[in-house]
Amino acid sequence: MIPYGKQEITPQDIDAVVNVLQSDFLTQGPQVPLFEAAIKDATSASYALAVNSATSALHLACLALGVGHGDVVWTTPITFVASSNCALYCGAEIDFVDIDPETYNLSPSKLADKLAHAKNHGLPLPKVVIPVHLCGQPCEMEEIHRLSVEYGFAIIEDASHAIGGRYQDQPIGNCKYSDITVFSFHPVKIVTTAEGGAATTNNTKLADKMALLRSHGITRDAALMTEPAHGDWYYQQIALGYNYRMTEMQAALGVSQMTRLADFVAKRNALAARYDELLRDLPLILPKQIEASYSGRHLYVIRLKLDDITLTHSEVFTALREAGIGVNLHYIPVHLQPYYQDLGFRKGQFVESESYYTQAISIPLYHHMTESQQLQVVDSITKIIA
Ligand SMILES: *Cc1c(COP(=O)(O)O)cnc(C)c1O
Repeated sequence: MIPYGKQEITPQDIDAVVNVLQSDFLTQGPQVPLFEAAIKDATSASYALAVNSATSALHLACLALGVGHGDVVWTTPITFVASSNCALYCGAEIDFVDIDPETYNLSPSKLADKLAHAKNHGLPLPKVVIPVHLCGQPCEMEEIHRLSVEYGFAIIEDASHAIGGRYQDQPIGNCKYSDITVFSFHPVKIVTTAEGGAATTNNTKLADKMALLRSHGITRDAALMTEPAHGDWYYQQIALGYNYRMTEMQAALGVSQMTRLADFVAKRNALAARYDELLRDLPLILPKQIEASYSGRHLYVIRLKLDDITLTHSEVFTALREAGIGVNLHYIPVHLQPYYQDLGFRKGQFVESESYYTQAISIPLYHHMTESQQLQVVDSITKIIA
């Protein structure tokens, strides 16, 4: 089976992890700061915090921005459930803004309409909006940022798919148009630490808050304590935090992987360009890129033109799996999940997302995929749908 995504672990990566295992620190040592420095370097953000998953980073980002009971957070239905669950962890409500039918990202014009509607009808405005750079293609952040100034919401970019990409020729994660950006290092993503995530920001207060909550809400900083230290052992818990720390083994793997980031993304873009060529004449909608985008190309999603194909979406998907092509579907619209249906969401609420879901298939794409593997994917798709 050619998987839809796959990590690459080199001898250099393995050495990096083994060296840590033989060192004094398995956690809270020098590797996490080194990994954070690599992320700062790649994104040009002022602060980077490594954590044990993007899900934790999203939770910390929401908490740092003060999301809580009585607040509303908006995101896109076409994302992994974590982009939306983070608001619920904080006791806030979640709502969705439908996607743009061309980019599959949260639509800035639908966001503008929904904000205006909420304002005119006295409905709650969002405290935070979480745009997701689906497949690695950046959302139209300049426009979303303009709306954030007009309506007074904060922005968390979910860039789990997008490390190494650029928007308006600036690295994703630089937070020019957002408060915080979040990355994932799960093995199918562009760079991996097995499990892992990070948050970047340019705001000192947000960085300090996330750092505090990442490790139990405990501080050793005398300036933050309510009384003088009792001795050298002393620390204080000053907030209710969590243990969201990344281990040293994970960080070392991340440091080693980050040295190859530009190459990973360049190869993904070359493979995507080749798919664009090879799949051009088939009854498919291929991914369109906005002008300002240099995508991380985490995923390559095709949409079936079902009117021109005899098989159904599900039949094409199964036939591809049977042919050894490890296709996947990103994503089932979050509002259709049973947990979200129980919160009151209904089918028919976000029609572009639901229509995308009836046609989309993620086909294999990872930087070390060979030309012959790619041709095998194209051949199988051609045989099945042509
Ligand atoms: C993978 C992913 C997450 C969650 O990442 P973890 O590191 O597995 O917690 C969140 N959002 C999006 C868009 C993702 O793809």
